[in-house]
Amino acid sequence: MSSIVLFGPPGAGKGTQAERIEKSTGLPQISTGDMLRAAIAKGTDVGLEAKSYMDAGMLVPDDVIVALIKARLMEDDARNGVMFDGFPRTVVQAEALEKIAEISHVISIIVPDERIVERICGRFTCSGCGSVYHDTFKPTKVEGKCDHCGSEDFGRRSDDNEATVINRLSAYHSQTSPLADWYRQRGVLREVDGDREINQITTDILQTLEK
Ligand code: AMP
Repeated sequence: MSSIVLFGPPGAGKGTQAERIEKSTGLPQISTGDMLRAAIAKGTDVGLEAKSYMDAGMLVPDDVIVALIKARLMEDDARNGVMFDGFPRTVVQAEALEKIAEISHVISIIVPDERIVERICGRFTCSGCGSVYHDTFKPTKVEGKCDHCGSEDFGRRSDDNEATVINRLSAYHSQTSPLADWYRQRGVLREVDGDREINQITTDILQTLEK
């Protein structure tokens, strides 16, 4: 069975859409960013190595990322296809992925640069279940309480600040955005306008996946 990639700049809404698409399609979300943050929280060697890159808004080296993905794809729930979120981010990673998984759709979520900073700087995450919210664009329904698990404990990512976002955007443009053409040439790239209401984007993505 084939897998899909959610592609786009930081703050495009990949994580938010991944949560929803996972519910509709059953494809498990594999977020390299979440895996790295979990490694940092656990204090593993991978976490220690990754942290300085992430704090600086730079990409973590390809060999670290590819090793994480290879291990993750060995797990049982990955057998019937997965949804990659935030991976691949370089051509080297895409070439490695091509050897280990079949990719049927690369959904490119398009958001202009000038919208990215405000989108990222208002983000917060439920510490209980990982659901992502935004102060303005996606607040919790009841203030201070997660819509999904009811937890009242939230956190903000240390790299979600303006200075780091500028570096993350620049890494995206120089190292990641060339992948759009790489996938276009392979006939699997589908573009979706990500600067709209969250439900509309989900509907678009689900329709695109059916084609
Ligand atoms: P994300 O949660 O996807 O925004 O990723 C947060 C940070 O983790 C990025 O700014 C990178 O430093 C690192 N990271 C996540 N995924 C990758 C990847 N596929 N390749 C390199 N670095 C990554």
